[in-house]
Amino acid sequence: MLTVQTITAFEDNYIWLIRHPDQPQVVIVDPGDATPVIAAITAQSLKPVAILITHHHWDHVGGIEDLLARWPMPVYGPARETIPHISQPLAKGDHVHIEALAADFQVLHVPGHTAGHVAYYHPASDVDKHGMIFVGDTLFAGGCGRLFEGTPAQMHHSLSQIAALPDDTRIYCAHEYTADNLTFARIAEPDNLTLQARQQTVQQQREQGQATVPSLLGDEKATNPFLRCEQAEIIRAAEGFSGRKLHTSDEVFATVRYWKDTLD
Ligand code: ZN
Ligand code: FE
Repeated sequence: MLTVQTITAFEDNYIWLIRHPDQPQVVIVDPGDATPVIAAITAQSLKPVAILITHHHWDHVGGIEDLLARWPMPVYGPARETIPHISQPLAKGDHVHIEALAADFQVLHVPGHTAGHVAYYHPASDVDKHGMIFVGDTLFAGGCGRLFEGTPAQMHHSLSQIAALPDDTRIYCAHEYTADNLTFARIAEPDNLTLQARQQTVQQQREQGQATVPSLLGDEKATNPFLRCEQAEIIRAAEGFSGRKLHTSDEVFATVRYWKDTLD
């Protein structure tokens, strides 16, 4: 059974360690900073076997060099982005097979935040009851990444690919932005009771210093405005913000993304 360990880095980044609980081999996802990763690995006598990178931003790649200096290993990442030390460039449809973990990850191309952004999906199996997906800065708990290199339509399509996975898929995003995201979600959808309850839960988790990530895809579909662009209440709210009729869910998505940008 695969387990995922949370490492916090910088202000609000998460770096993920994937492994089997009784085995030392570990895969590192998006090591923006090597220091906390080295500390976690040495403290537990783990053996890094691969690095997975979702996109080229410094807070996801900054630790690669120092990790490789200690532990030479393959580095997987998007072929379409310029990232030093990538040894296994990936395109959509590729699979990453990690022999040491006997684990297979499907590579999804999810542009929007950056042009080549990829996500790594590990489906559920007999041993792993929940699927898991490492989404970098694409889908956040309660929100989504900013559009630095892609169009709203691209990001909406990327999120739709993720939304099509099973509801019990665990979403591992790379930042603890959930509380702020849900503040906006409440503005967009004030009458959503599931959202109100989630906001309370998240508030309690944060007061106790707990991570709100991973989240479940089903909960995102019920509360995350960026996955709800076909819902009447979100359409109405987006039309209210823009002051005009919106004809497609891409337009609704673009409006909600722009609306949140104006408040950040
Ligand atoms: Zn980023
Ligand atoms: Fe980031």
